[in-house]
Amino acid sequence: MRNVSGTDLDDCYLKLIREDLVNTQGLHETAAVVARHCAIAIEASRVGVWFLSEDKTSLDCQTLYIRDEDRIENGATLDVGKSSVYFESLSKARIISTGNTRNDKRTLEIALDYLLPDDIQSLLDATICHLGNAQGVLRIEMIGEKRQWSEDEKMFVASAADLISNSLVVDQLAKSEAKHKALFDATNEGIMVFSGPVFVDVNPAVCDIFGGCPEDIIGKSPIDFSPEFQSDGKPSGPTAMNYVQKCLQGEPQNFEWTHLRLDGTEFFADITLNSVRLENEDTLFALIRDITDKKAERAAQQVQEEIKYRAAHDSLTGLLNREQLHIHVDNLISNGQKNQNQSFQIALMLFDLNRFKEINDTLGHTTGDQVLVKLSNLLKEPIENVGGELFRLGGDEFVAVFDNQSCSEPFKSLEKMLTQSMKTTLEIEDIRVEMGASIGISLYPDNGTDSHELLRCADVAMYDAKTTDGTSSWYDPKSDLNNKRRLAIMLELGSAIRNNDLTLFFQPRINTSSGAVTGCEALLRWEHTDLGLIPPIEFIPLAEMTELIHPLTAWVLNSTLLQINRLKSLGYDIPVAMNISTRNLTDSRFVDTLKKLVTSGKINPRLLEIEITESAIMNHPARALQNLERIDKLGLSIAVDDFGTGYSSLNYLKKLPLDTLKIDRSFVSEMISNESDSLIVDSVINLAHNFSFTVVAEGVEDKETLDALASKNCDQAQGYYIAKPMPADEFEAWLEEFTGGVPAYSKVA
Ligand code: C2E
Ligand code: CA
Ligand code: CA
Repeated sequence: MRNVSGTDLDDCYLKLIREDLVNTQGLHETAAVVARHCAIAIEASRVGVWFLSEDKTSLDCQTLYIRDEDRIENGATLDVGKSSVYFESLSKARIISTGNTRNDKRTLEIALDYLLPDDIQSLLDATICHLGNAQGVLRIEMIGEKRQWSEDEKMFVASAADLISNSLVVDQLAKSEAKHKALFDATNEGIMVFSGPVFVDVNPAVCDIFGGCPEDIIGKSPIDFSPEFQSDGKPSGPTAMNYVQKCLQGEPQNFEWTHLRLDGTEFFADITLNSVRLENEDTLFALIRDITDKKAERAAQQVQEEIKYRAAHDSLTGLLNREQLHIHVDNLISNGQKNQNQSFQIALMLFDLNRFKEINDTLGHTTGDQVLVKLSNLLKEPIENVGGELFRLGGDEFVAVFDNQSCSEPFKSLEKMLTQSMKTTLEIEDIRVEMGASIGISLYPDNGTDSHELLRCADVAMYDAKTTDGTSSWYDPKSDLNNKRRLAIMLELGSAIRNNDLTLFFQPRINTSSGAVTGCEALLRWEHTDLGLIPPIEFIPLAEMTELIHPLTAWVLNSTLLQINRLKSLGYDIPVAMNISTRNLTDSRFVDTLKKLVTSGKINPRLLEIEITESAIMNHPARALQNLERIDKLGLSIAVDDFGTGYSSLNYLKKLPLDTLKIDRSFVSEMISNESDSLIVDSVINLAHNFSFTVVAEGVEDKETLDALASKNCDQAQGYYIAKPMPADEFEAWLEEFTGGVPAYSKVA
């Protein structure tokens, strides 16, 4: 068969390009047009356009033009894996031309499945390329005819294949552009593209957010959609410019922005601003999300968190509260139990400030609050340093919780350190406030197995610390037995005072040498209907912790005065001593009352004595001195009680307006058997006499002691040997008998 002339082929090629037969339509149409024109021009039996499948495993004939019938059909598929020699040849050379497919190595692999069945004896294949890779082939086929292809024909087919390659590039670009456009359009996130200060493109999400169509937005600036000021009060214009500037300097910006919708309503947006360099120009694009709902959600969440925080924390000190204490301790316990750790311990340390109520009452609640804050700060660090946690129970009570590792030796030194640090002077607005605390400690598992029990035990221990001298106490089950009783006593004390369930017992004291009755001491008792006679040691410390100490002392003063008058009416002109507590001594109202009674003549100052313990004086020396001086001026005599237990020196006491010194029972009761006690009693008597104090020995329980005291020149004695404290009527009977019956002791004139 003759070859087609190059001129005819050139004409065909020119026609293909000139008439815009290719490229203006899609790839598929281009392929069909090229196949048909090629087939006609080159006088081939068939022309096929084949493309590599996306996964590159097959070569698929998408267009097969059959010249005889002038029609196009879908062609066959070749397996790439089975035809490696053919594909390699296609990739390397742009053309495979063979006049006899049966003898050509390059086409051998496709012969059996494809060439032979259709009797394709010669073919001319040209590679379709994209970005340098074979993507398909334009195949000219001759059926039942061996044809030698001319150079012109090869060139023509190669050029025609290039037309399809171009179309492929255009098609791919269009596809990726469509993909990006689809993304741009479909994303929920608003995308806004700027050029200079105005929007040049926005996606449908932006339109949804602003409530308009692209034409409403494009060409306008972001400031057209912003209120004058942002929610933080900053002006929108300069603030936005600032973000833009930073973004152009290469820092992408993320911020929240109050925008205006097209209808003028406000919404909150999350904006991410980025810049890219497109066609030599910095183009900004912004991602925008409407977070109005999220913001409201976040605000609600913040409120929720705040509520949660407040529910767990004490508002004054910021410490965790009582409920958290229970949760924390119970968690520690259950963790310890889970780990089956036998030696696991937890310690609770309860701090209760001494005299906090007094601070609140006298200096005001603001000062009281400041004291609490300062103290919580004081405690927090050392406690947290050893892994403990501090809680505020409320009022002036704090609890520290320590887990395992802290309950050992270092814990004891911490206890000591904290006890010391609570004895401090706080300076609050130029006022110096003397502090002090009582500390109670309980241990898991020794004292309890849950947080409530442990807290209760720490509380019992704390009351022990309050009533004894120590400032810290470990829980002792013995104190606990008294606890329920103590609670009952505490609750009923107020009504006992009002209902006159209290009574005074009287214990005389005598002159050691003459045996004359020199006076008596009023000792308080509570006649409880269920509990019987309650000794003062059980309820006076409780009264001292509350305001009840004031009405209680008033009751004692009143009853003492009644007894003085009664004794007087019976002919006994003897002084009666009443005991007052620290709180009375620091309270000027008590002295005011005394003054009123003296000036109105209701008290004969010679017959009322005031006993105050040495430790009460030492707790507040300055205030004690002030009030003692006032009492002294009124003409009442004052005795220091329990001398020897309060660490004061006689040198200090000599500065106070005192009349009498009562040596504590603990020295007197042992003075016969214990030589050092005897020596102490000796020297106290001598020194007291040097300062002109009258000396009274307390707790005289036998004759030897009384005699020994007499020989040591102790002025007076009091004790069970002489008489136990007695109700008023018994005391009167005793007086009658004692002064009348025994000649050594006489009625005082
Ligand atoms: P105190 O002032 O030291 O009173 C003496 C205490 O020793 C009394 O105990 C008395 O019964 C006891 N006593 C007296 N002689 C002997 C003795 O020979 N041997 C022994 N073992 N004890 C003896 P009481 O009545 O139980 O009072 C205890 C404390 O309660 C008093 O100690 C005093 O500090 C306080 N108190 C009593 N009445 C009042 C009061 O009306 N007001 C105040 N604030 N405190 C009071
Ligand atoms: Ca006394
Ligand atoms: Ca005493």
